[in-house]
Amino acid sequence: MKFLSAVKTIGNARQAARALLSEETDTAALDADLLLSAVLSVNRNLLEVLEEVELGSSQAADFEHLLQRRLAGEPIAYITQSKAFWTIDLQVSPATLVPRPETELVVERALFHCQSIESPKLADLGTGSGCIALAIASTVSAAHLVATDISADALEVAKQNCKALELDNVSFFYGSWAEALPNHTFDIIVSNPPYIASDDQCLADKFMRFEPPVALIGGSDGLESIRRIVTGVRKHLKPGGWLIIEHGCDQGNAVRNLFESNGFKNYSTFKDLADLDRVTEGQNG
Ligand code: GLN
Repeated sequence: MKFLSAVKTIGNARQAARALLSEETDTAALDADLLLSAVLSVNRNLLEVLEEVELGSSQAADFEHLLQRRLAGEPIAYITQSKAFWTIDLQVSPATLVPRPETELVVERALFHCQSIESPKLADLGTGSGCIALAIASTVSAAHLVATDISADALEVAKQNCKALELDNVSFFYGSWAEALPNHTFDIIVSNPPYIASDDQCLADKFMRFEPPVALIGGSDGLESIRRIVTGVRKHLKPGGWLIIEHGCDQGNAVRNLFESNGFKNYSTFKDLADLDRVTEGQNG
């Protein structure tokens, strides 16, 4: 053990891990606690009261190993294999994007439209871990969701999450965007597609290097998948049905233009918690 050789108690381990991680991340205290609670299999809120308890040598070795992974840039969610999103906990793997808080805006917009539909039928294209579909399905029990993905591994993760949440209102289909959809029409179609341009420097980010490129990169201008979705979904939407898409903060204008030229009406863009353009929705005209 390199980092934790002088560590005796859980309190010492917390302190040592915070100091180490603070050189790499601005969420050092949170990261240290998430990793330590994973090693000890206890709720993070309990660490405070366990400070005086001695850390076993195998626990210290396990903690050391997880810290090393984190220091190499690996997202906490991949290390602990879980991520909180909306009101649910999701299993994630390197086959799926780590769910982001801004994606909850897609859930919010979908739930807003669900209010006026009795048994809404929704589709989530490129579901990844299933975060959007499962958040909606767990909030609106009368809804039925179809969730698709081009990655069989991601689809498996989404199915496992559905099972763990004991939801029976989600069906899964393998395939690319609208082509994966079964032959019926939906009230609402949502998606968080890949939308980063292939030459964007952010892809070299320590964190993103661990995520699947297929879930991040939307071709040379970042809009390739969004274009395929907007042009492909109308025949799967009921008249007046809504398309809700997450996109990059500088893509609002381009996405609204795509909605306009593909016959959508009442389109508008919503800002995320950082006050950045993040989600555009429009109605099948
Ligand atoms: N929202 C992610 C990011 O910019 C990208 C995910 C995506 O392309 N859908 O970090």
